[in-house]
Amino acid sequence: MNVAVTPRRSRVLQRSSVTLPPKAVGGHGVWLVEEGGREVLDASGGAAVSCLGHQHPAIIEAIKAQADKLCYAHTGFFTNEPAEALAEKLVGHEPGGLAQAYFVAGGSEAVEASIKLARQYFLEIGQPQRTRFIARTQSYHGNTLGALSAGGNAARKAPYAPLLSPAFSHVSPAFAYHGAEPGESEEAHVARLAAELEAEFQRLGPQNVAAFMAETVVGATAGCVPPPAGYFKAMRAVCDRHGALLILDEVMSGMGRTGTLHAWEQEGISPDIQAIAKGLGGGYQPIGAVLVAGRVVDAIEQGSGAFQHGHTYLAHPIPCAAALAVQHVIEREGLLENVKAMGELLQQRLAARFGNHAHVGDIRGRGLFRAIELVEDRASRTPFDPARKLNARIKKEAFARGLACYPGGGTLDGVAGDHVLLAPPYIVSAEEVGLIVDRLGEAV
Ligand code: PMP
Repeated sequence: MNVAVTPRRSRVLQRSSVTLPPKAVGGHGVWLVEEGGREVLDASGGAAVSCLGHQHPAIIEAIKAQADKLCYAHTGFFTNEPAEALAEKLVGHEPGGLAQAYFVAGGSEAVEASIKLARQYFLEIGQPQRTRFIARTQSYHGNTLGALSAGGNAARKAPYAPLLSPAFSHVSPAFAYHGAEPGESEEAHVARLAAELEAEFQRLGPQNVAAFMAETVVGATAGCVPPPAGYFKAMRAVCDRHGALLILDEVMSGMGRTGTLHAWEQEGISPDIQAIAKGLGGGYQPIGAVLVAGRVVDAIEQGSGAFQHGHTYLAHPIPCAAALAVQHVIEREGLLENVKAMGELLQQRLAARFGNHAHVGDIRGRGLFRAIELVEDRASRTPFDPARKLNARIKKEAFARGLACYPGGGTLDGVAGDHVLLAPPYIVSAEEVGLIVDRLGEAV
């Protein structure tokens, strides 16, 4: 059967079948160029991906140089230089005990591999009954079926129910704005969340739990929600008490986005398994990775000898070369300092512009990972009726003003409240931060 291809419908299956989006044809710095020449300020770095902005010459050069040398070699026979160098850069100094890196093609694949690594670890150490995972509501871990099961986003899961995996159950997120009781201290909130996790371990049988999985700073589902102080220490303690692993999903919040290379560095803990992607390749190549603690890799090495999981594009030389170049640029240009400084400036400017707005309930985040949350009523924190599709309307108004933001939240994500998420490239200037807030202000 022939499908009609009209100007509003292309041969590429688009996210929305209703309107064909404009064509992006170029970019420079924080700007994207549309067909016809209009320039759009990319204030969410794509999907919090383009951490160095667009068309960075050093990354393009690294991709070209690697393509000239070697494009593919099966990992069943070979390793390759960019993968080795990238792993050395990421885990060579064993940050927090993370000793090896496993390179895949994106965030969902990294989460899938994290789940299977945890399962295999317990198999190797003679605890095969540990098949249960605890994650959190209002979380997103990816769109493949395993990762979707891990996520706590009811609306995204609904069309595909029943999902493949009954292995995941969910506890409350650490979301102070909506989750803390009136008058509750941060300490009491954390203690309550730790008690809830403990109760979930007890319900499942602590000996059956493989891991607790969480986004270090919650991204698209709830809008840049940093954990309350001491939260991850408390969660880590519950996992340790029962011999379970801690898996952190830093696909969105990691690789410098919050001002440190890993967001967990600000929490005084480290994970056993960590998923990264997005900013790792900076959008120049599809790449994700799992960083794995020494004790997990040792158990596998001393057990069956190999991680029983693989993809055709594991440790592909070109994405690894691009990601290595991204790391070099971040270091050479001291960009984590800019993330911290511009992140603070963005928070200040958002507070100045929206702090007294009748419908802005919260302004939050870390580094260049910030969100404003819109509510019907500030005092009661009542969210807008999802039928009003507020976030979609703001996204549209902002885009019309030459600003690409990442609204997330709202109806699709099934979250209380509508947030607008901003994750500009690490190279953003003070002037561009001002422009982002001005244009967003007009849109809101
Ligand atoms: N985990 C988190 C926290 C994410 O934000 C995302 C992507 N938004 C994923 C996993 C999935 O990554 P990908 O889209 O690259 O598969």
